[in-house]
Amino acid sequence: MKIIDIRATPVTVPLAAPLRHANGSHWGRFVRTIVEVETDDGIVGLGEMGGGGESAVAAFNGLKPYLLGHDPTRLEEMRFIVANPTASLYNNRTQVLAALEFACLDIMGQKWGVPVHSILGGALRDRVPFASYLFFRYANHRDGSGEVRTIDQLVAEARSLKSTHGFTSHKLKGGVFPPSYELECYRALADSLPGDSFRFDPNGVWSTEQAIWFGRQIEDINNDYLEDPVYGLAGMRRTREKVRMPLATNTVVVGFEQLAANVLDTAVDVVLLDTTFWGGIRPCVKAAAVCETFQLGVAVHSSGELGIQLATMLHLGAVLPNLTFSADAHYHHLLDDVIVGGKLRYECGAIAVPDGPGLGVTLDRAKLEQYHELFKELGTYPYDRDPLRPDWTPLVPNTRWADPLDGRTPRVTP
Ligand SMILES: [Mg+2]
Repeated sequence: MKIIDIRATPVTVPLAAPLRHANGSHWGRFVRTIVEVETDDGIVGLGEMGGGGESAVAAFNGLKPYLLGHDPTRLEEMRFIVANPTASLYNNRTQVLAALEFACLDIMGQKWGVPVHSILGGALRDRVPFASYLFFRYANHRDGSGEVRTIDQLVAEARSLKSTHGFTSHKLKGGVFPPSYELECYRALADSLPGDSFRFDPNGVWSTEQAIWFGRQIEDINNDYLEDPVYGLAGMRRTREKVRMPLATNTVVVGFEQLAANVLDTAVDVVLLDTTFWGGIRPCVKAAAVCETFQLGVAVHSSGELGIQLATMLHLGAVLPNLTFSADAHYHHLLDDVIVGGKLRYECGAIAVPDGPGLGVTLDRAKLEQYHELFKELGTYPYDRDPLRPDWTPLVPNTRWADPLDGRTPRVTP
């Protein structure tokens, strides 16, 4: 079996409302790049990567001379073709490698008539539980819906998500408003859903002292963990010495060198594995095995996903013996998907692991075309800018917070 073509198609899919985070906002939509890898026996494998546009298409086109004629089952060889660690000093292609790995695993599964989780060691569970992943949101300017800024709005949104999808764990993305206000929000959230568990993630923008202060204020809550309260292993290590709850990261342990450093001098208790950031599903499985050996926790991270990437997260979640936390997904904020059958559904806070050959999801060609047209119409958006604060530059640690009394609505949602 040989690779004969690689195609990349940027798409834009609308969100219910703009998602706010510590560095800016998702402007009412996600831009993703859908990757198709075709083989000489007519199999097409699917991959997905965040972001898009000419640079993403060029990145995949630029790898055709490396990969056309390559056997898609030889994934370890492909790792060194695309992302040799010493060559990567000049060109870091980890995320590109991830999308190609997804597609090649999809090809292998289709060729052999087995789901990807069977290739990865076999499923230990047929459903992966998810957390609610709450964001502060601007309103959708088209109908004024979706705003999450006040405590009442946050609690109402959490209750609504729980009743619709059945979540029993709730993640609040912070780092937007002053920490004292976000503390009020988090405590109100925990009070409103007794018996559930909670996690908070300000994306590493607090000072170490602020992280310690916040951590000490929430020790009585049923926390899964506190995620990236401060940026950097040293700050995480100092915080960990002074708060009594696990610390998690998806920012300072995203590769094996950092994982080794964290094992030798522990700063983080729970490693959030992202199939894109780590360069594929298989590196995440390897990292989970290291975490299992050293008794560190793991969970499944979301860097934003349509159904193809979500399938990679489900196959990963299915095979990890040490997955004791629910996974994160932005997925429920999306209004649509590019896979046949539409969005995968949550039941009792979990999503069923696809059981068809390969990744188990099929590209809906009409949707791909529709959302590629929307991408061409709107282009990319600056993920690390806020549409209503054009002069704002967040610092690390940050002190330039948004005002929780500012109820303006940006006109950005498609
Ligand atoms: Mg995070």
